[in-house]
Amino acid sequence: VFILGVESSCDETAASVLRRDPDGSTHILSSIIASQDEYHAKFGGVVPEIAARAHMSIIDAIIDQAVTEAGVDYSDLSAVAATSGPGLIGGVITGLLAAKGLCLSLDIPLIAVNHLEGHALSPRLSGPCAFPYLLLLVSGGHTQLLSVKGLGDYERLGSTVDDAAGEAFDKTAKVMGLGFPGGPNVERVAAGGDPKSVKLPRPYWGQDHANFSFAGLKTAVARAWRSSDKSEQDAANVAASFQATVCEVLSERTGRAMDMFTKDIMSTNEVEPSDTPHRFVVAGGVAANKAIRGALEHLCEAKGFSLNAPPMVYCTDNAAMIALAGLEHFIQGNISDLSAKARPRWPLDSAAAKSDPASG
Ligand code: ATP
Ligand code: MG
Ligand code: FE
Repeated sequence: VFILGVESSCDETAASVLRRDPDGSTHILSSIIASQDEYHAKFGGVVPEIAARAHMSIIDAIIDQAVTEAGVDYSDLSAVAATSGPGLIGGVITGLLAAKGLCLSLDIPLIAVNHLEGHALSPRLSGPCAFPYLLLLVSGGHTQLLSVKGLGDYERLGSTVDDAAGEAFDKTAKVMGLGFPGGPNVERVAAGGDPKSVKLPRPYWGQDHANFSFAGLKTAVARAWRSSDKSEQDAANVAASFQATVCEVLSERTGRAMDMFTKDIMSTNEVEPSDTPHRFVVAGGVAANKAIRGALEHLCEAKGFSLNAPPMVYCTDNAAMIALAGLEHFIQGNISDLSAKARPRWPLDSAAAKSDPASG
């Protein structure tokens, strides 16, 4: 079985071809990712209108490149999987329409994929990762803790109520004039600073849930920077303090979710007592940060979890994860109608989908 995946929900235009063999093994034949960083850099963040236009101008070429590089013919494809939400609506529509066009002309099914499900399953692209596992998704658009119990069975244990962690990095970098994307620049500048020099808020610290909030932290960093002398050392100190605070908050909140996860799987009798340590996976661009990775390693040791940090190419936005989610659904016979709509918001877990239509 060959499947084409298409991703265009944020600022990466991506296409990938996967092959599933009869023995159940999955092979990534191609994974093409065109980043739009250079178009958004001067605005210090992703501009939806620019993103949509950039996707539109390049999507056909990216799909063609993925098919060519995979060494297959369009007629070999069994289905096309496309992100149909959540994300920036212009981009999602662009990828979804391209996928629908292919499905129509090749007379093969479409699988409309939730971008978050792609992230949730992404650790399984690079090696075995048995269900259930706890996933922390920390990117420019999301900060969520998900219990991944099986295909289509996800429970959101916590998520940000305002900004994503990556967004806080990007906005901090913007205020400090460090360029976009902010994460790597903040990390570089932080290396020479004292992480204890600036006192910053740690929202929800110690509270009995696993949600996040980064808006107040972002504002406090901006205030600290503006009231400093803006020397090189001030920059290093502010960046280091910000990064350390994000580390602490991510670890403390994730620790809560680990307790929830452990309690939950211990209460189901499908889990063998020998099935420990429990699995923890971190995905998303922010996971590239070495201090954050270190803090999570430490947390895993303390809580008895094994840490799985897939290669960065699979945990930032890519189309291989969308193809994989699509492939699993295709095999189960879950195919979509060609009238499937692009959804700017689309929560992954069914409980949230019913009670909280505004969450993405
Ligand atoms: P989505 O949220 O839809 O997954 P995205 O494009 O916003 O998409 P990613 O591509 O996964 O997210 O990651 C980009 C984010 O990761 C940016 O906010 C960037 O600042 C952040 N980031 C990248 N490298 C680092 C780093 N070394 N430290 C901290 N943050 C980083
Ligand atoms: Mg991106
Ligand atoms: Fe993403």
